[in-house]
Amino acid sequence: MRTLEGLSIERPATLVGAVELLADGGQPLAGGTDLVVRLRQSESRPRRLVYLGRIPELRALSVEEGSAEIGAAVSHAEILSSPLAARLPILRQALSTIGGPAIRAMGTLGGNVANASPAADGLIPLYLLDAQVRLAGLTGEREIPLSSFVRGPGAIDLRSGELIRSLMLPFPAGTPLSYFRKVGRRRALVIAVASLGALVWETQGKIAQARVALGSVAPTVLRPAHVERALVGRELHAGSLEDLAELLSEETRPIDDLRATAAYRRQVAGSLLVDMAETLSNQE
Ligand SMILES: Cc1cc2nc3c(=O)[nH]c(=O)nc-3n(C[C@H](O)[C@H](O)[C@H](O)COP(=O)(O)OP(=O)(O)OC[C@H]3O[C@@H](n4cnc5c(N)ncnc54)[C@H](O)[C@@H]3O)c2cc1C
Repeated sequence: MRTLEGLSIERPATLVGAVELLADGGQPLAGGTDLVVRLRQSESRPRRLVYLGRIPELRALSVEEGSAEIGAAVSHAEILSSPLAARLPILRQALSTIGGPAIRAMGTLGGNVANASPAADGLIPLYLLDAQVRLAGLTGEREIPLSSFVRGPGAIDLRSGELIRSLMLPFPAGTPLSYFRKVGRRRALVIAVASLGALVWETQGKIAQARVALGSVAPTVLRPAHVERALVGRELHAGSLEDLAELLSEETRPIDDLRATAAYRRQVAGSLLVDMAETLSNQE
């Protein structure tokens, strides 16, 4: 294991200061829960690390009438203890499964997004809420949908000198039911072998609209469009979605790895949809 001795860490207090350092070969450092582990395992070193935790814009969390904006350097624990956690139960459900208390206190939403792991739990609610990513660079800002920003495992549409400033979350209309569950190999500190999150709008005992997002079963978080459409008009009770489990499994593109085989991930994804029906019918 390598130490990080000798690596210089800059701590800019402004957004402009940060992007200038990034454009000059710096790498963003937020909570360090991913990056420090990765640097310890790697031979290569960035020119410098640029700590983002002192920049007010990145530390802000604001809630408006129809949307919220979460600064990239806000920690999971801070989001969970904010009023937003009550406003968006899907965010609370997913973020509260990340690591243990220490990881949630250090780890940030921006770091979770930039990491672009197919197993990132923070990405599931963001995909369900059709989040936009607000990026800041030397030449100004741009905003793009999260689903285009994340390109593949560890691959994001971040230009040289840019950083994630914030995540913009439009609130879903009405009060959808929300579901999040991940299946892993250990009870504590679980890295998902498959996860499923959903927002489900129900009227008169039938599903009127549904958004579903799956983790760890494709190179990026997946919104299975066929399943979302097929859910409309269906009843929500134990066993009511069993026939859709196979359709869901067919939309996944999992890989075999150390944690699970592709076939197992596919099967777990289908079972999570069945579990969703039972869990949500008990919530009504
Ligand atoms: C023991 C353990 C358990 C974990 N459990 C989970 C889990 O259950 N679920 C889960 O999803 N994750 C888990 N993680 C992974 C990690 O904690 C999260 O992904 C966390 O949100 C990363 O945030 P961070 O602030 O620590 O990122 P950092 O480690 O600081 O950075 C991660 C990457 O993002 C880049 N980056 C950071 N901020 C920005 C920004 N604003 N703009 C551009 N790039 C940026 C960094 O350069 C780096 O490449 C776990 C990690 C550990 C060590």
